[in-house]
Amino acid sequence: MSDARKPGTTTHFGFQQVPMEDKRRRVAGVFDSVASKYDVMNDLMSLGVHRLWKRFVIDLAGVRAGEKVLDVAGGTGDLSREFSRQVGPRGLVVLSDINAAMLGEGRRRLADKGVVNLPIVQANAECLPFAEGSFDCITIGFGLRNVTDKDAALRSMYRALKPGGRLLVLEFSKPVVPGLSRIYDQYSFKLLPLMGKLVANDEDSYRYLAESIRMHPDQGTLKGMMESVGFARAQVYNLTGGIVAVHRGFRLDP
Ligand code: SAM
Repeated sequence: MSDARKPGTTTHFGFQQVPMEDKRRRVAGVFDSVASKYDVMNDLMSLGVHRLWKRFVIDLAGVRAGEKVLDVAGGTGDLSREFSRQVGPRGLVVLSDINAAMLGEGRRRLADKGVVNLPIVQANAECLPFAEGSFDCITIGFGLRNVTDKDAALRSMYRALKPGGRLLVLEFSKPVVPGLSRIYDQYSFKLLPLMGKLVANDEDSYRYLAESIRMHPDQGTLKGMMESVGFARAQVYNLTGGIVAVHRGFRLDP
């Protein structure tokens, strides 16, 4: 049993230390609460820049027609939608997430855009219910931060990849531009909860967002975590001065 799974083990939920099981329940509460306002808040909080970050991941993923792609913690389906266009009728994209409310929003949005041939699977990233070696490409966008046992999630995604397949992790990270952290802190801890309160009537969830970003492993630490579960050629791409980073790694074993 890994340390993270031993009874009584605690972890962080934002800046609070909580029992492991409590984190799962609280994260579920956050996304149950924000699901209906999730997309509008994303555009507002990032002034639309999250679309550019996602575009970068899509380009770096280099998905080709006929490939099989899994979008883990895919929420309302931004990445899945574009991948489904790229894989074409011979390929497959699976949208998965642990949260039924987020997937419900995703299903509705995809249907609105005419994307109906895309399987949706409710699943925990820590124990994905797919056969070993099922996918050419797996993405997890702004999801890993919320997962309780991140090593388990990385192992589970590694296992679900075909040999030669790639994982792309899009996540908030640590600013690398001098002076940026101070402005970013003001924005995160003052403005984000205020926007959450005014637009989504939910200050606490957006305070959790800011805190969870600070508690997430930085670029080097996450790269090391990927390497220690077996990912090869792990590389980090900083976006917007490191506010966001994309990590890519490959499963290269035969
Ligand atoms: N990928 C989407 C995007 O970029 O817009 C949604 C990101 S949203 C910030 C984070 C998502 O992670 C939520 O939909 C949440 O339900 C999901 N999530 C949290 N913990 C998870 C877990 N253990 N397994 C799978 N999904 C999880």
